[in-house]
Amino acid sequence: MALDTATLRIAFGLMALVLVVLFYFSAYRVTRSPYSGWWCLALVFFLAGSGFFLLDGTPHQIWANPLGNVMLVHGGVAVWAGARSLRTVPPPKWAFTGIPLVTLIASVLDNPATNTWSGGPVFLAAMSLSIGLASRELWRLEPGYSRVRVPMAVAAGGLAVFYFFRWLVFLAEGQHGPTFVTVFGSAVTTLVTMVLLVVVSFSMAALSSEQQTRALRVVASRDDLTGLLNRKAFLDLAAEQLTDHDITKGSGALILADLDHFKVVNDTYGHAAGDFALQSFADACTATVRSTDLVGRYGGEEFVLLVPGASAERAELIAEEISRRLASAPTVNGMEMPTASYGISLYDSRTPDVEELIASADAALYRAKSLGRNRTARSDRMT
Ligand code: GH3
Ligand code: MG
Ligand code: MG
Repeated sequence: MALDTATLRIAFGLMALVLVVLFYFSAYRVTRSPYSGWWCLALVFFLAGSGFFLLDGTPHQIWANPLGNVMLVHGGVAVWAGARSLRTVPPPKWAFTGIPLVTLIASVLDNPATNTWSGGPVFLAAMSLSIGLASRELWRLEPGYSRVRVPMAVAAGGLAVFYFFRWLVFLAEGQHGPTFVTVFGSAVTTLVTMVLLVVVSFSMAALSSEQQTRALRVVASRDDLTGLLNRKAFLDLAAEQLTDHDITKGSGALILADLDHFKVVNDTYGHAAGDFALQSFADACTATVRSTDLVGRYGGEEFVLLVPGASAERAELIAEEISRRLASAPTVNGMEMPTASYGISLYDSRTPDVEELIASADAALYRAKSLGRNRTARSDRMT
């Protein structure tokens, strides 16, 4: 049975068109996830590329053939960009300019008027590379991501390997070689791509709605102004840590911080300056502790830190360091940064819950305030 390339390409084009429409309305319009956006774009590129190849054998081939190559390569890069977006890493700029540009130059210099495989080796290498990179991104997704990432990664990996062998065989025996024509020719490729597109489309919806859910979760757990955990997210995570003795090794410190005479900052320099001081304090906190420690904005100008494994002495050093950083933070219009007071309480495996821990840190904080502010006090329970 001879597979007719032109017919297959039309079938492929029709399928891609239906998928674009479905993706656009069912995934992208609903979730606005970057992943589904990139996929719509990739399909449009694949569609356009296949369209241009239909002009092979006509007088238009001279421009349509190189452009077809460039479109398909853009499609490959968009697939890669989509996979990267799942890790919220933007695609490198050179991918969208460099790879297609090299493909274009190679095609234009390779007799595109008569040669339907103009720039073939560069085109095949570019496809293998971009789709291979997409597969690598999908493998690198944290295992917490939905399981559909596995068939996606396998599909992309398979296609990258397929293009890699096409490239090798093309280099070895050329476009008219027997193996290239029967195993790696355009007809088989179109079929393989169709099958893989179905796999990918199937997993698409799941991955893009998961991406959206994750983005919403991050927004919902963060404080707008400082980017720290908000109160609820802090309490949830801290409660988890207190019960997970593998992480905490059973003990650690909680630090409650409150900016001193903060109302005066607002009254003297304005609310925007107050906001700026809050952000500077948040930055001082995150710069001082480890990325695995929890830092949250507990309320207006109150902050809370959970430092697993820390002793009272360590917690005091952390508080000092935060105050030192805040004092040396840059300010504008002669504004003076406020100082801060801290209350420290320790926990161990017998600590009943976070609320109790915070209550005792709060009592200590109250003492730090009444002793004159700009200082640290330990909870009574620890002495
Ligand atoms: P103390 O040393 O006793 O803690 O005095 P204080 O002035 O810091 O405490 P008080 O509770 O009287 O005032 C807290 C101020 O924090 C009042 C409120 O307007 C301000 N505040 C709360 N949230 C924000 C915010 O998001 N931005 C700004 N700029 N100010 C805030
Ligand atoms: Mg306060
Ligand atoms: Mg205060």
